[in-house]
Amino acid sequence: MFGRVPKKSDNTKFYEVLGVPKSASQDELKKAYKKAAIKNHPDKGGDPEKFKELAHAYEVLSDPEKRDIYDQYGEDALKEGMGGGGSSHNPFDIFESFFGGGAFGGGGSSRGRRQKRGEDVVHALKVSLEELYNGTAKKLSLSRNAICSKCKGKGSKSGASSRCYGCQGTGMKITTRQIGLGMIQQMQHVCPECRGSGEMISDRDRCPQCKGNKVTQEKKVLEVHIEKGMRDGQKITFEGQADEAPDTITGDIVFVLEQKKHPKFDRKFGDDLYVDHNLSLTEALCGFQFALTHLDGRQLLIKSNPGEVIKPGQYKAINDEGMPHHQRPFMKGKLVIQFHVIFPESGVFSPEQCRKIESILPMRPSKHLTDMELDDCEETTLHDVSAEEVKRRKERQHRHREAYDEDDDDDESAPRVQCAQQ
Ligand SMILES: [Zn+2]
Ligand SMILES: [Zn+2]
Repeated sequence: MFGRVPKKSDNTKFYEVLGVPKSASQDELKKAYKKAAIKNHPDKGGDPEKFKELAHAYEVLSDPEKRDIYDQYGEDALKEGMGGGGSSHNPFDIFESFFGGGAFGGGGSSRGRRQKRGEDVVHALKVSLEELYNGTAKKLSLSRNAICSKCKGKGSKSGASSRCYGCQGTGMKITTRQIGLGMIQQMQHVCPECRGSGEMISDRDRCPQCKGNKVTQEKKVLEVHIEKGMRDGQKITFEGQADEAPDTITGDIVFVLEQKKHPKFDRKFGDDLYVDHNLSLTEALCGFQFALTHLDGRQLLIKSNPGEVIKPGQYKAINDEGMPHHQRPFMKGKLVIQFHVIFPESGVFSPEQCRKIESILPMRPSKHLTDMELDDCEETTLHDVSAEEVKRRKERQHRHREAYDEDDDDDESAPRVQCAQQ
């Protein structure tokens, strides 16, 4: 084993660094190192050189083989490779093997090992307008990855893992292939052996609960509180409830409210509620009253003022019967009713009835054309035009206008400003 006998060098310095006698036991070494390392940690304003020295001294003396070489031949013998390795270890690794990464409550150490953040999980949550009006709570059961409770996310029984040989610990593999003359495509993909973790766990050491995956599936029930006045698209966030993974800050579960269309009410302009109501011609002219069932089941009595005539398409509003303001639910928007007037069908009135109606309704503006005037007119016929037909015509015209917009200013439908001014 010893090719040549090294000359004896200093073999007391490491004991002095740790402040222990040469006869110190492993326990005494450990205690001495812990105390001095905390005191001299660079994160606590300690001297990095001293910290390194402590780690190195402890590393040598805690290894019986290395301690033996050091005691017999001194530090130089270790430098020359006896006992294997010398002092290649990072002093922070040794420190963390005692205290873990969060020794000072801050997570990462001075080396800047930063935890990555896990992804947020976003779910759409369908809600009715009634639920947004009244508020409700929904219990939702989700399954997610949780750090394995048996191995604490190590994946192995012993807590040990070794670097993956497939990717040298990087988690990624690069393959190249020729795709043409002198052209090479390089592709990077997740290492299949370690599935991107960069480490391997021997079959025997694998954690029986998570099979080495470090995480297990967990069922979780979340209670989502939908508050009065919340709106479509609003987010409700459960911080740190998404999938757990080792060395990762767990992301959030986010619910995005999706309001189902209501058959009667429409929410518009913030907290106003819109509802359509059909009136018969008689109601529109002579007055009406009806009961409207609100989103909380209350019956609202809606009635016209005496002598009031409602015109087709007219709006009327009731204050404080709209949606509640979110977080100030005692304040509410307006309830707006749009009235549609249903006219009688053709032919329902006899000539006799028409004369009666005519005697009551206001006079016709152009009651009579004289015979002379009639003689000057041409006879015409009125045909029905359906709403769909009007829509189709508009669309056709629109396409036509787009096609000729550049060079045809004489489009008949284009507004003629000059004419209007004459
Ligand atoms: Zn496990
Ligand atoms: Zn790998």
